[in-house]
Amino acid sequence: MEVCFDQELIVRYGGRGPRYTSYPTALQFNDQLTPDDYRAKAAESNDSDVPLSLYVHIPFCHSLCYYCGCNKIVTRNEQRVARYMEMLYKEIDMQSALFDSSRKIEQLHFGGGTPTYLDKEQLGALMQHLRGAFNFDDSDEREFSIEVDPRTVDAGRIQELWDLGFNRLSLGIQDFNEDVQKAVNRAQSPAEVRALVDSARNAGFGSISFDLIYGLPHQTVDSFDATLDVVIAMKPDRLAVYNYAHLPQRFKGQRMINANDIPAPEVKLDLLHHTIDKLCAEGYIYIGMDHFALPEDELVLAREDGTLQRNFQGYSTHRQCDLIALGVSGIGGIGNMFAQNAVTTMEYEEIIERGELPIKKGLLVDNDDLVRAAVIQDLMCYDSLDFDTFGDRHGIDFRDYFAAEVEQLDVLEKDGLIELSDSGITITPRGRLLLRNIAMTFDRYINLAENDSRFSKAI
Ligand code: SF4
Repeated sequence: MEVCFDQELIVRYGGRGPRYTSYPTALQFNDQLTPDDYRAKAAESNDSDVPLSLYVHIPFCHSLCYYCGCNKIVTRNEQRVARYMEMLYKEIDMQSALFDSSRKIEQLHFGGGTPTYLDKEQLGALMQHLRGAFNFDDSDEREFSIEVDPRTVDAGRIQELWDLGFNRLSLGIQDFNEDVQKAVNRAQSPAEVRALVDSARNAGFGSISFDLIYGLPHQTVDSFDATLDVVIAMKPDRLAVYNYAHLPQRFKGQRMINANDIPAPEVKLDLLHHTIDKLCAEGYIYIGMDHFALPEDELVLAREDGTLQRNFQGYSTHRQCDLIALGVSGIGGIGNMFAQNAVTTMEYEEIIERGELPIKKGLLVDNDDLVRAAVIQDLMCYDSLDFDTFGDRHGIDFRDYFAAEVEQLDVLEKDGLIELSDSGITITPRGRLLLRNIAMTFDRYINLAENDSRFSKAI
């Protein structure tokens, strides 16, 4: 399905909004959820046939990329890393004891920080520990991914990642222009990245994904066009193109970026417009939000056959799993519960040292949340929703249940973001770049009148 860049609409609607990698979003989590609740939900989930997914957070980085808004620790202190790993192992043991060993780990994601901060021995030992604690799926159906900072690995290490069981790679590229790289303190050459991609293809990695960022200092349409040329020549299966949000009050490292070097809002729009046009002209399919994929990629096929999902990793082809999060700040989801670990390493390590699960907050979602989550999921994955089909699936009369929301949709229809009929909602090519604005209509926690600064800008 096409996507249409309507500058006037984007400017008018391009306010802040959640990315809906979960609903409700993490902002709704509270500290009422206890480790006992977590244990009870884990035990309950063992009665289901839902498979398991693991998220492992490695917070360390060798150097600071000035744009970064992740939960990370820039250090070269080996003792600090060793202590974290020791506590992570303990958490793995505590968590694995809660889940039935017959349940397979079908999905695994290493994020950070920089997972490849860990050297060959550290990563190998961690994977061995995880394999000993959980029942890993070793079939081709597994989806085991790792975020790779190209500056931390060479071609040989890519083969090692494959040998450890990973079959998906996500490479942080951002921009190849040298002035931009200098301004954000992240230098990596196309030749280095090309060598990694070649090595990944030789090893057998089925899906290689690149992350790019638009709106970084010194970027122009011409300079970013040159980056896109280099990227397209490497043919990543998937591309995520994120908007840089300059929030120096919140992310200290961003104070190293000179605000005067950041492209003006109209240039940012041109950058986005050009990126979408170019990627689509080169054969990439716009999946939704910030994501593009080649036509033969599983994401595109999943969108066609109705198995596309939206989860904490963005879009995924995998059926819904119970997600166990390991490591500082990790967010898991078991049944109708979200749970988040302590967000500082000091607190995370202290709690584990006491022999407790490091869960600090979370949420037990109710049926209304689940129905709304399903609406948002359908809109973000398929750009449409059939009232009767949805109602049958969830035991509601959609028009009655969401009478107030359907009324609010009128405005979006008048503005051309959606088509609304007696039978359902269809997002128009214009509306596809404003998915989160459409989804926000069904978010009962959001005040649409507020331009909420807790969220990043939609565009
Ligand atoms: S962008 Fe990645 S490598 Fe750079 S500081 Fe952030 S987490 Fe670390």
